[in-house]
Amino acid sequence: MSDSASIMNMAESHLIHTYNRYPIVLDHGDGVHLYDADGKEYLDFGAGIAVFAFGYNNKEFNDALKDQIDKLVHTSNYFYNEPMAEAARILTSRSGMDKVFFTNSGTEAIEGAVKLAKKYGFMKDGRNDHEIIAMDHSFHGRSMGALAVTGNKHYQEAFGPMIPGIRFAKYNDLESVKALINDKTIAIIMETVQGEGGIYPADPEFIKGVRQLCDERGMLMILDEIQCGLCRTGSLYAFEQYGVVPDVLTTAKALGQGVPVGAFLARGAAAECLVPGDHGSTYGGNPLACVAVVKTFEMIEEKGLIAHVNEIAPYLEEALDELAGHFDCVKERRGKGLMQGIVVDVKPADVIKKALEEGLILFAAGADVIRFVPPLTITREDVDEMKEKLACVLEKI
Ligand SMILES: *Cc1c(COP(=O)(O)O)cnc(C)c1O
Repeated sequence: MSDSASIMNMAESHLIHTYNRYPIVLDHGDGVHLYDADGKEYLDFGAGIAVFAFGYNNKEFNDALKDQIDKLVHTSNYFYNEPMAEAARILTSRSGMDKVFFTNSGTEAIEGAVKLAKKYGFMKDGRNDHEIIAMDHSFHGRSMGALAVTGNKHYQEAFGPMIPGIRFAKYNDLESVKALINDKTIAIIMETVQGEGGIYPADPEFIKGVRQLCDERGMLMILDEIQCGLCRTGSLYAFEQYGVVPDVLTTAKALGQGVPVGAFLARGAAAECLVPGDHGSTYGGNPLACVAVVKTFEMIEEKGLIAHVNEIAPYLEEALDELAGHFDCVKERRGKGLMQGIVVDVKPADVIKKALEEGLILFAAGADVIRFVPPLTITREDVDEMKEKLACVLEKI
């Protein structure tokens, strides 16, 4: 077995350098803990970026995957398989959508949603120059369509031209959305809770206003719940707490608990506009990924995950509020459920590096936010331990 230094060297010599990785080689995980190659334990409040809802090395989940691996991993989409049918049934019925298309990632779910909106518009009026309104500080992914609706100039800068017809409004500012609407506008895309942009929940009046605009103008409301969906904010999908239902929904991250899978869903006429030849994917919806989806939903119910999130989230909020009250460098806490952020006036990267030394994994969001997206199964003891470790870090900074 290689030592950590040689593994890191090998990786840096051969991987395209798109990430500044922390100098840690992770080896295995258990529950809310990860272990590096030297056996050091980390309390994980990042969950692989809001992926591991049930924590690591869950036997029930692993066994379901192993059984499917021994049966059939892939079929192509020219045939049916049972896990795909079952995953589609569960995902549509639980989300309130009518139909689903499975992808391999979040960014692909966005690509599909954008294509669906364009086709919907084409069916409606025969034009193929429709526009989509997206939000400043949004994040929807790295492929060209998703990048075009991502409100971050820095991510787009080197990769122009972007796909045309995308206009950016201010999140939580309905007037700025209204000002961009014209005859060509076919959809409004937004995260229900902005994640990468800095953990900003939508204001209820804003999201309701967007819904109303879409209803009045026959536009599609696309909600990206790739990060905030799947119980993270205290309901299966965050939109449920706002009393609105989108026309198109994107979901990924926690959907497969680490098995790469995403989906876009639609209802009503929007669910019927893509037809054979319009869209496809070699892997999308393969039996292994779909077993992960089915198992995820079974475990959400078995474990009463939504109730647990609603019980533990106020405790996390309280802990973070106490840190904000105690340390001058913490300016504010915001978030929803187990998707929280604290705004700091020091470099988030410095906090994160020191936290790793203390055995705590955290991620940043935006330029000045430390993000907390732990496994949804965390306990009060985990929150206490996180708070203690983070307090030590903030003390030193
Ligand atoms: C992570 C994320 C994406 C992109 O998902 P990938 O699986 O990384 O392609 C899109 N939208 C939101 C809100 C996300 O958090």
